[in-house]
Amino acid sequence: MKEYDNRKLFRPNLVPSTLSKQDFEKVYALLDVTPLEFDCGTLCGKLCCREYEPGVGMYLLPGEEQMFSMEEPWLRWAFVKAGEHDFPPDWKDDVAFIMCNSDCPRDKRPVQCRTFPLMPYLTPEGELQVKLDALSGILICPLVKQPHTYPLKPEFYTAVLSAWRILIRDPLIRSDVWRQSRLLDQEESSVWRGLLGR
Ligand code: SF4
Ligand code: SF4
Repeated sequence: MKEYDNRKLFRPNLVPSTLSKQDFEKVYALLDVTPLEFDCGTLCGKLCCREYEPGVGMYLLPGEEQMFSMEEPWLRWAFVKAGEHDFPPDWKDDVAFIMCNSDCPRDKRPVQCRTFPLMPYLTPEGELQVKLDALSGILICPLVKQPHTYPLKPEFYTAVLSAWRILIRDPLIRSDVWRQSRLLDQEESSVWRGLLGR
């Protein structure tokens, strides 16, 4: 993955988006709510904000780049071809991948940081729900590993669901949520098969 000096105005051919900057501003405002009554980072030493594996970072959603200048001193940028990574087949272009210095201005953090440890889930009938992110959280996040010890605030669920209702208006984001939902189905059924010894 090639990184880009964020002071050069390199503009890749990004996966297109139907969402405006105002849509993302609304989403960010909705997501100004924390999962717990206290700072969950005290449980794990802010593991999801640290480079717990070399090169760990996060993908931006299509259109989310509108919220960044690419000159943020706390970010490094890379771009990947969607077709060469784990994205749906209708994502044809480049996807922005960002790596932070573990110290972002809180009001600038991206969607993925605001919604974790929840992920959007589309039922096979197409109904939007949110679930604990067992796909990427089970190894690192106490809130995913011990959901009964650390139940998330109901208003956090509500905010994340409202935000994803806006985000999946974009057909390509919906398509990726559909793909991840089917991956979660597979993951959950393999856990059950394991428990039942099949
Ligand atoms: S979301 Fe999970 S991994 Fe991230 S800081 Fe909170 S408890 Fe830790
Ligand atoms: S952008 Fe902020 S919230 Fe997200 S991982 Fe980096 S330091 Fe944590």
